[in-house]
Amino acid sequence: MSNSILVDNQKTQLEIHLRRIQRPRDYQQICIYKDVNPLEWDDWHWQLQHRIHTREELSKIIKLTPEEEKGIEKAKGRLFMAITPYWATLIDPEDANCPIRRQAVPVSAEFVASAHEMIDPLAEDRDSPVPHLVHRYPDRVLLLVTDHCGMYCRHCTRRRLVGEGEQDNNFVSRFEPAIEYIKSNRKIRDVLISGGDPFTLEDEIIENLLQGIRSISHVEFLRIGTRVPVTLPQRITEKLVNMLKKYSPIWLSIHFNHSKEISKRCKIACDMLSEAGLPLGSQTVLLKGINDRPYLMKRLVHELLQIRVRPYYIYQCDPVKGTQHFRTPVSAGINIIEKLRGHTSGYAVPTYVIDGPGGGGKIPVGPNYVLSQAKGKYVLRNYKGKIYTYLE
Ligand SMILES: *Cc1c(COP(=O)(O)O)cnc(C)c1O
Ligand code: SF4
Repeated sequence: MSNSILVDNQKTQLEIHLRRIQRPRDYQQICIYKDVNPLEWDDWHWQLQHRIHTREELSKIIKLTPEEEKGIEKAKGRLFMAITPYWATLIDPEDANCPIRRQAVPVSAEFVASAHEMIDPLAEDRDSPVPHLVHRYPDRVLLLVTDHCGMYCRHCTRRRLVGEGEQDNNFVSRFEPAIEYIKSNRKIRDVLISGGDPFTLEDEIIENLLQGIRSISHVEFLRIGTRVPVTLPQRITEKLVNMLKKYSPIWLSIHFNHSKEISKRCKIACDMLSEAGLPLGSQTVLLKGINDRPYLMKRLVHELLQIRVRPYYIYQCDPVKGTQHFRTPVSAGINIIEKLRGHTSGYAVPTYVIDGPGGGGKIPVGPNYVLSQAKGKYVLRNYKGKIYTYLE
């Protein structure tokens, strides 16, 4: 390889790198939004009502590839395309591999089923004793309260459930069996409210649910899984955080995949949640070509700490039907942890887990630091590969 090619390659790499960390456009720079009133723009209902669903709308913002055009046509029904105008402003119109774009725009590869892929790889439906509840670990349950989300992620593990099917609007009767189940099972001390995205529900409905769960005396720990601070940060309103405060302590797990998602607007939403006393953690899905390089993950976890979000989990992308193009080898995840642990603040290092297919729960996977173990003696290596012996 001649020197000039090498230099060109490095230049392209640098350009790609700079693009991937670029900050969003102002919405008024996008022709179809240039006349939108700022108050409307910041109204979460407006954002939801104006989500992009069609090829025609999206092609006014970015030039679609043939794979995307096919993907959008096929993605009807469950997990259809729904992109909030806010999320559209984060897309780099020049880069077909933009991480923001790939998470939101369907491609034809999504409709190819590959070996080992399943509809419900975590067997959540099997571990569901009553509707909307998954009970896998003895002391904690997962409550799926809605199938709606701010935006539909193309890599979604719950694509079998998510995407605005018909909902029974009688909220009380819908969750009565789940609440009764938690009430009658005194071992349950931790309730994780997820979906879909619980924050797509109206404040009153969320409050109703929190009241119901908080009235159960053996439930100590309450958490909500959401992606709304990332895909629809306008949803985090004063009214919502003041309501959540009343049911404190509530912990939040927020789905973040890339540093480009951390816009000024997203930071405002996270600040409001932190200031209302909700501890924030992140959950990240390892995605090929999006965040599978150690430097990208490092940037993400560092930026998360700056907005007071503690990196909690990195998930291996579950073997859900139609997600093969997103899946990395397990070694990519182990390599990321190897490059984080010891090399940066411990608070910045999440746990990399594989959710055991068939319902095994989250299994931590990481570099091996114990080289050998004999009676009273551990041989260990540190993050630099130096060897140490610990005697018991
Ligand atoms: C992830 C998950 C939980 C919570 O697990 P933690 O490791 O405590 O965060 C609980 N139930 C189910 C079914 C889950 O998938
Ligand atoms: S926000 Fe979560 S539940 Fe909704 S589509 Fe994305 S990954 Fe799936």
